[in-house]
Amino acid sequence: MPELPEVETIRSQLEPEIVGNRLVSVEVLDPLWTEPMTPAEVAGICDGGVITALERRGKYLVLALDQGGRLVMHLRMTGNLLISEDEAAQRHLRARLRLEPGPDLSFVDSRRFGRGLAFPDGGSADDYLDARLGVEPFSADFTPEVLTELAAGRLAPLKSFLLRQDRVAGIGNIYADEALHRAGLHPLSPAGSLRGEHSVRLHAGILAALRAGIEFGGASIDDYRDARGEQGTAHDEFLVHLREGEPCPRCGAAVRRTRVAGRSTYFCPRCQRRLRRRRR
Ligand SMILES: [Zn+2]
Repeated sequence: MPELPEVETIRSQLEPEIVGNRLVSVEVLDPLWTEPMTPAEVAGICDGGVITALERRGKYLVLALDQGGRLVMHLRMTGNLLISEDEAAQRHLRARLRLEPGPDLSFVDSRRFGRGLAFPDGGSADDYLDARLGVEPFSADFTPEVLTELAAGRLAPLKSFLLRQDRVAGIGNIYADEALHRAGLHPLSPAGSLRGEHSVRLHAGILAALRAGIEFGGASIDDYRDARGEQGTAHDEFLVHLREGEPCPRCGAAVRRTRVAGRSTYFCPRCQRRLRRRRR
């Protein structure tokens, strides 16, 4: 599933290509794409607007239009937003954004969990997103102190805590593993066991892991492709994720795999410390 770095890669590729162009029409080929809205409702809000920005919030893409409308898209499991006319991908075409003078964008999605919803103004789109998403990692609001506060009193493992979009937005299974390894923290440590120094390390680990993902154009371990239909190379740079049995790049111990919250979780048993629960 695309996480913050993959979505940010798509956003940064597309924005310079589409800002200033008119969104002539949102053609919805699969009505599931706009649920619980209807394709006509989405078209009614978006069609004809001039694109002023393509923003990202967590794993969402937000297309801003000059008449105030916002098209909020989520790639979910297998969605891709492509500028290319990849014929193989068109088989799973769910929606096409017709732009004038171009280029058209294709939302393709084999498993059909991806969505596109429209809001009449920025405020209503922000309300929708803020109700679902916590602090944005690259914002000034994200600090070690905020991380400690968000985790305080929580018994859930750190890995599960990081997967929750309503705490820190944008982190998924890949970058949670990578962030915890960078921080030297065991994924099964209770979130509420974070102390000041741990939060400082985890905060830095999250930012470094996400930056590495962006730097290498995202990780293509599944269906992820960037806006041009190309694979990213961030998976070649993974420190522990998918590296079971390989040496930890920090200490050389064999990387282990376990399951946390139903997700495969990779960690170094030697240098990722398991914290003990503490009272609030
Ligand atoms: Zn290690």
